[in-house]
Amino acid sequence: MSEREYDVVVVGAGFAGMYLLHRLRGLGFKTRVVEAGSDVGGTWYWNRYPGARVDIESMQYSYQFDEDLQQEWQWSERYSPQPELLKYAGHVADRFDLRRDIQFDTRIGSARYDEATSRWTLEAENGDRFVARFFVMATGCLSKPNWPQIEGLGSFAGPTYHTALWPHEKVDFTGQRVAVIGTGSSGIQSIPVIAEQAAELFVFQRTPNYAIPAHNQPLDPVYEKKVKSRYAEFRTEAKQTPPGIHGRFRVGNAMDATPKQRQAEYERRWDAGGLSFMGSYGDLMFNQDSNDTVADFVRGKIREIVKDPDVAEKLCPKNIIGGKRLCIDTSYYATYNQEHVHLIDVKERPIEAITPTSVRAHGRDYEIDVLVIATGFDAMTGALTAVDIRGKDDANLRERWADGPSSYLGLAMTDFPNLFTVTGPGSPSVFTNMLPTIEQHVDWIVDCLAYMKDRNYTAIEAEPDAEKAWWDHHQEVSKIGLKTTTDSWYLGANVEGKARVFMPYYGGFPTYCQKCEEVAAGGYEGFAFG
Ligand code: NAP
Repeated sequence: MSEREYDVVVVGAGFAGMYLLHRLRGLGFKTRVVEAGSDVGGTWYWNRYPGARVDIESMQYSYQFDEDLQQEWQWSERYSPQPELLKYAGHVADRFDLRRDIQFDTRIGSARYDEATSRWTLEAENGDRFVARFFVMATGCLSKPNWPQIEGLGSFAGPTYHTALWPHEKVDFTGQRVAVIGTGSSGIQSIPVIAEQAAELFVFQRTPNYAIPAHNQPLDPVYEKKVKSRYAEFRTEAKQTPPGIHGRFRVGNAMDATPKQRQAEYERRWDAGGLSFMGSYGDLMFNQDSNDTVADFVRGKIREIVKDPDVAEKLCPKNIIGGKRLCIDTSYYATYNQEHVHLIDVKERPIEAITPTSVRAHGRDYEIDVLVIATGFDAMTGALTAVDIRGKDDANLRERWADGPSSYLGLAMTDFPNLFTVTGPGSPSVFTNMLPTIEQHVDWIVDCLAYMKDRNYTAIEAEPDAEKAWWDHHQEVSKIGLKTTTDSWYLGANVEGKARVFMPYYGGFPTYCQKCEEVAAGGYEGFAFG
């Protein structure tokens, strides 16, 4: 047990916490990063399941704050696999000598603000205490695992692995009977890889998902050279697109094109692979008829790939495409052509129970040796409310957000002075390329702290009117288009009992950045300083 005092305490040593530490150090802030894991990497530290890889192209899913770093680092594949991303995080930690200011294996349980001293005291589960003027939650949007509420889950006698808490040692499925519960991105990435080893694979699917081929391949050295020859401009161009991703986004309407033109465009995008598939036309997420055309196209592909028509039908999503996060796959649908892979639809009749030896569904026991849980995360708010955060007058963040979160710009909350969140609810976060978004947030927070330091301000707090105005605007924007018509983790719909409030900001990265810049330029409009 120890108690130490800092200028800033950051929770989380993923990409956000690492960059925060680097920037804060540069400005002379005495900073401590506290991390529950045993090393840096965040998402890529925890999500080690087979097949895990990023769904943004490697040349874009990387830091840009240091030109030498981005020039020197070489990615090996179009979409980096998890081990390479973790290696990259480790490389950045080494290069900027970050680990000496990070305390690993320490999970923060509570944080209390003392108004008299304008300081936070954070307490870890091991009893260590950290006192700091400023406190930043850099805990990620998808980091608190969501466990399904299934009777007997804990009774399974064999190994149970959650994709978001995967063990560090290699898991060998050779000759095993394996069940996977969940068919989101984690399930869709891991199922084809597990199928390569397993003797029998039972996939329990509640809602089918749309998956677009990744066409992953070794990184083209010509492309790499081209990007690196103008990396800064490339990054600037990316930031001008709504998701902050360099890609080919069209502005035309799908319904203005002929069926033949649409088919050709969708084929071209399918062959190119990746998330820019949904950039085929500008109105796909705003017009139901347009969305139907692209959803029908993907369903057609599923029926083409999957040989058994009944299985193909079960795999065809009925909801709109893009309502949930699009999945990027490698051989996902084709996996179901293998005889030892079985799809069990548990939409209408949910899994009844887990027994010591089986998953019970439809009155049958599917006998298994290994259970894989791919049921995702308590997204956006889960990692924030996991810590008992008490602000002014003992304001309790968990209680405050019981009916859904609210924030000013996804960066700060009224009654929680000197607390910042990186990519919190109300920021574009998961609708964008997370790395540049993290850098934008970190730069904004650090610039704000430097501004305060110059003026000898000791406290900053979001004003209630500013928070309300931002949150109202954010909620208004989320209603434009089709996004909210689907149950998704964006809405908190995947966690039983969680309030349904749309969490990521849907107004686009450029609009959001402009607002942040205006706020800063106006002397941090909407914030009160003490
Ligand atoms: P997810 O998208 O929330 O998927 C969870 C899956 O579990 C869904 O199919 C869900 O069905 C199912 N499920 C939950 N409870 C169940 C139950 N009781 N019985 C049966 N099925 C149940 O989680 P995820 O796959 O971990 O992905 C979450 C997000 O993380 C992604 O959307 C993405 O943003 C990110 N991610 C990205 C990558 C990548 O490509 N780089 C990889 C993994 C994750 P319902 O849909 O019916 O709820």
